[in-house]
Amino acid sequence: MKTIPHRIYLTEEQMPKAWYNLRADMKQQPDPMINPATMQPAVEADLYPVFCKELAHQEMDAETRFVDIPAEILEFYKMYRPSPLCRAYELEKALGTPAKIYYKFEGNNTSGSHKLNSAVAQAYYAKQQGLTTLTTETGAGQWGTALAEACAFFGLDLTVYMVKASYQQKPFRKDVIRTFGANIIASPSDTTEAGRKILAHDPDCTGSLGCAISEAVEKAVTTEGCRYVLGSVLNQVLLHQSVIGLESEKALQLIEEYPDIIIGCAGGGSNLGGLIAPFMRDKISGKADPRIIAVEPASCPSLTRGRYAYDFCDTAQITPMARMYTLGSGFIPSANHAGGLRYHGMSPILSKLYHDGYMEAVSVEQSKVFDAAVFFAKHETILPAPESAHAIRTAIDEALKCKETGEAKTILFGLTGTGYFDMTAYSSYLDGRMTDYIPTDEDLKPGFDSLPAIPGVQD
Ligand SMILES: *Cc1c(COP(=O)(O)O)cnc(C)c1O
Repeated sequence: MKTIPHRIYLTEEQMPKAWYNLRADMKQQPDPMINPATMQPAVEADLYPVFCKELAHQEMDAETRFVDIPAEILEFYKMYRPSPLCRAYELEKALGTPAKIYYKFEGNNTSGSHKLNSAVAQAYYAKQQGLTTLTTETGAGQWGTALAEACAFFGLDLTVYMVKASYQQKPFRKDVIRTFGANIIASPSDTTEAGRKILAHDPDCTGSLGCAISEAVEKAVTTEGCRYVLGSVLNQVLLHQSVIGLESEKALQLIEEYPDIIIGCAGGGSNLGGLIAPFMRDKISGKADPRIIAVEPASCPSLTRGRYAYDFCDTAQITPMARMYTLGSGFIPSANHAGGLRYHGMSPILSKLYHDGYMEAVSVEQSKVFDAAVFFAKHETILPAPESAHAIRTAIDEALKCKETGEAKTILFGLTGTGYFDMTAYSSYLDGRMTDYIPTDEDLKPGFDSLPAIPGVQD
């Protein structure tokens, strides 16, 4: 019998040359975005003030199945891709499971996560259009780092609004971003109308992604030659992240494997959407029937407890409204939540697939997530990002079920990044200070009350 290596790398020849647009194969499309100014379905041009043109086009394009990756981006990818598909032999042994566990490891670049896959694309298209400046938000900091790297490479200026809670928890994250030349501001801040409004209402506000997005969008639309970019949720980001799934599919083909279960953590849905893209295509067409599981924090449970409704992507309610699973743009996760994945909504593509029954979702408490992170680190010698550890938790749980039933299932999960900047969270776990907070229905109510009313669509 052929043994499967611990690490499977594609050759340059085998690497994908085009991104895959899953929407082209979906039987039913996500509902159209709505322009809040007209209450009509948004068209591509509505997005031009906020996004650069090519990205606005990718956002709206549900038809083009494969989008060629521009040569400059392929060259950039070669600096850190392919990422390895890893066989978790040591984890399997430690669990005593008959399951075969694979993970796609996206942490082998300075940004420490998969975010660079889309950051380089977004910076490239902005440069092509002759823009000089970008703005963005960052929660845990990986997106801000990835975009700062990409902007430094293409010679663009960048301002990053970082959620204040993370800014305080992760001082070195901020300095990595500054090393790449970006300007970084704790959000909410007094540099924008949106930030000042929130601070007037609550001076101690620790921020949220929705609030940081509001500030970044406001800055972009009021600055010449500037556009806003977002690291998750959007269709264009899932398109760029399909490189994760395409590489995984190819690597699995080389070893003649196909996953029975595919697991990914879900914040805004970009790594999961990218990882599952080719496998979801097989599921939709009936060619295969893998189980696909999204894992989210119990403290920010958009899929498992959210509503499938039109909502704004930001707190200031400037962005177009998208129909997605959401806790409401006014939702702010409890301040003791340390594991990332703090966004109130979820990718409209994944929301639709989940709503139509193609995917499952589970929520997990952070102490159990860190149990899994530490166990994984000891056996696989990688210190995982807390976000990634959500997927590890569920992969371990599924592998333990296999141990009970004796089934040798093939499990694939996304190991989205490393946790070196998350040591504040790790210390609170290791010191026994980490607590779990599961919001009550009462806690979730204000978020749901913030959902917009749209005449004839949603009251
Ligand atoms: C941003 C991030 C996530 C979550 O974002 P998605 O868009 O849901 O993928 C997960 N893991 C890491 C390491 C991240 O940086």
